Amino acid sequence: MAVHHQLTLELHRLGRIVTCVNRALVTTWGGKGGPTTADQRETLWQQFFTDPSQCWDCRPEKVTESHAGLVDEGMRCYASMIEVYMISATLEHYTRMVDLLARAGHLQEAENIIEVMPCRPHVTVWMALLSACRIHGSVEMGEHIAKVVLELEPENAAVYVLLSNIYAAAGSRHLCENVQRQRKEQGLKEQPGCTWIEVNNEVHTFLVDDQDHPCMIEIHAELKRLLGLLHDVGYVPYTKFVPHGVGEDEKLFHLCHHGEKLTVAFGLINTAPGTPLLVLKNLRVCEDCHLFTKFISKIVWGAIVVRDANGFHHFEDGVCSCMDYW
Ligand SMILES: [Zn+2]
Ligand SMILES: [Zn+2]
Repeated sequence: MAVHHQLTLELHRLGRIVTCVNRALVTTWGGKGGPTTADQRETLWQQFFTDPSQCWDCRPEKVTESHAGLVDEGMRCYASMIEVYMISATLEHYTRMVDLLARAGHLQEAENIIEVMPCRPHVTVWMALLSACRIHGSVEMGEHIAKVVLELEPENAAVYVLLSNIYAAAGSRHLCENVQRQRKEQGLKEQPGCTWIEVNNEVHTFLVDDQDHPCMIEIHAELKRLLGLLHDVGYVPYTKFVPHGVGEDEKLFHLCHHGEKLTVAFGLINTAPGTPLLVLKNLRVCEDCHLFTKFISKIVWGAIVVRDANGFHHFEDGVCSCMDYW
């Protein structure tokens, strides 16, 4: 009974974390059709005791899936998952912990976890660490991990892209171009980014530098107008990861025509002010589009929700639910 009571407290505590702190997770649940209000979650916590199999999304291991940089909370949930609930960690849990630690900048601790994993580390867990090396500008660790992943998966184009981004951010133009050349020589193509939105029961899809949409003239005019307004409220485009070899103007032009920006501009033109926008993207949203959307959410009424390859971003009043960890 004591364990049951402790579990109840722990789940309530986790419930509070979900409610108060980690809006990203709430949004994710909402997106999955899961519990969105405190009452609904409370009911699900109770169901958890009677029949855990009926509410998989409420189990503690699901709650450790925090991308909000809540390292301490994540570590505590992780420890209690193993020590209190006797749930043994799977490859997915290890990946989540590595991701959580690495995104928050604890790269060495994250690598230590990979080293002590009882199962063989797979590409996903290494890629989580490589993405974090990109965020935190760790060239040395990035090079090492890229090598490890390419041994496991020689045709992984994303490794080349991340490594070239790491070199670009470090100002190593020559190394950046080298990696891009190697990727091309191997015949490996970057997966094209694709963004889409449903407006008036019709799905509209946009690619980077898309010129095909019939409303492109209006979209470009709207983007230009928005960029002027954003500039006035402090938006400065984030060009750190744009590969070298292109001029500053070209970099900006390219960033301005990312699918997300075209999609958001299109959504704003075609909906009444205040209408929430739901934008979907097949890849991870880039730093500049994330920043752009945060600023947009400062100057428009409604919320903008972006579902990218990593999860949900709920932008409102200049803030994103992921707290800039994604
Ligand atoms: Zn972008
Ligand atoms: Zn976000």
